[in-house]
Amino acid sequence: MGIIMQSQIHCPDCSNTIHLDTKLLLSGQSFMCTGCGLSVSLSAGSHTLVQQAVQGFDRLAAMKDDVGKQASQYFRKNRI
Ligand SMILES: [Zn+2]
Repeated sequence: MGIIMQSQIHCPDCSNTIHLDTKLLLSGQSFMCTGCGLSVSLSAGSHTLVQQAVQGFDRLAAMKDDVGKQASQYFRKNRI
């Protein structure tokens, strides 16, 4: 079983669920909250930490939400 790249986080502003692709996130893609329109992307310098979270997630595939939970603290918020 390969790395599962689909993940989800809770919007830091409205707690709506934001579905994201971890691989795209790591490549610099931002994802928009459908609840409030907030755009989130990785803040500079956090890619290595999130990458480690992704790798840990691959080993512990059952802990499905953990990537999002760990990654969410590294997000940069952008209001468009
Ligand atoms: Zn939101």
